Amino acid sequence: MIGWFRRGRRDLPWRGPIPRDPYSVVVSEVMAQQTQVQRAAAAYPAFLRRFPSIAALAAADVDEVVHAFAGLGYYRRARLLHRAARAIVARGAWPTTARELAMLPGFGAYTAAAVAALAFGGDEPPVDGNVARVTARVLALALPLGSPALLRAGRAFARDLHVGAPDPELFEALMELGATVCTPTSPRCDECPLLPRCAAAAAGAAEAFPLPRTHRRRERQRWAAVWLERPDRTVLLRRVDEGPLLAGLWLPPFAVLADREDPEAAARALARDAAWPVPLAPVAAVRHTITHRDIQVLPFVGSVAAARVGEDRAGWRWHDPDHPSVPSSTLLAKLAAACGRRRAGSPHRANGEE
Ligand code: SF4
Repeated sequence: MIGWFRRGRRDLPWRGPIPRDPYSVVVSEVMAQQTQVQRAAAAYPAFLRRFPSIAALAAADVDEVVHAFAGLGYYRRARLLHRAARAIVARGAWPTTARELAMLPGFGAYTAAAVAALAFGGDEPPVDGNVARVTARVLALALPLGSPALLRAGRAFARDLHVGAPDPELFEALMELGATVCTPTSPRCDECPLLPRCAAAAAGAAEAFPLPRTHRRRERQRWAAVWLERPDRTVLLRRVDEGPLLAGLWLPPFAVLADREDPEAAARALARDAAWPVPLAPVAAVRHTITHRDIQVLPFVGSVAAARVGEDRAGWRWHDPDHPSVPSSTLLAKLAAACGRRRAGSPHRANGEE
């Protein structure tokens, strides 16, 4: 495995000799989560130039950090990375074990084990989806991807590969094998160093393992949103502080509606909360999907008269919705299409589809 890895590993900007600087390991791991590795590799050098150390990251404004994640998606990671940096700086030193690292904001078991192994020589194997897939195939385990049982099997398998003390390079080699050779479809078994001991390949059934991830049922939500526009076409945006998926992004004020809750009353409350209780008119609903949620957004448009144009307040700003200088979501562009161009007057359609 080690020989295969040294000959064929991808040249990624964070791959130096092990042990590595923990900050570079954390940044690379967070960037590469749920993002194509080539996109993370392209963004990584600029991020390190802008925030060259954990102290520089902790001292930065959170919006700057979220902005630096532009193009990588999933901005919650950026906020959590920033919070973790502040926690580490406040602590005065890096935690060095997987157990301690797992207590930092945004550090799951995988990230904690990866940082502990690659930066501090930890012996807890990091098990990502790649390692889980290799494990399920070599051992022909009919377990679903993402299941705790497969995670446990992956840890045991990664440990059992060692003849001596655990070697972080072997952990990394295993992840690389899953990412480049033992791929979800069309694995290249004839190039694989584990072929002689792979039960799934021997049975000619590599792609039958692991079982597909069991999917959560999609949740349906209705949101009311207010699109308050000034004569200069700027729109009031509010920074989302709560929630797992949109936190740190700037959007027009919105509220998640309870069953049967009147969207117009909710929109009026949002406008009052924003200190602009102007008349509102509904426009066509917008459909938005976030991970396991199908969201029907019901927008209400209001015009803020020139005489009443106010100053920004903390967490609220007026922005050109086509070119906001703060991090936002694709939902803003959808709302701009529904509210900014069609303007008020067309009521929400019954099926809520745009
Ligand atoms: S032999 Fe094929 S199925 Fe088995 S681990 Fe290697 S690439 Fe994956």
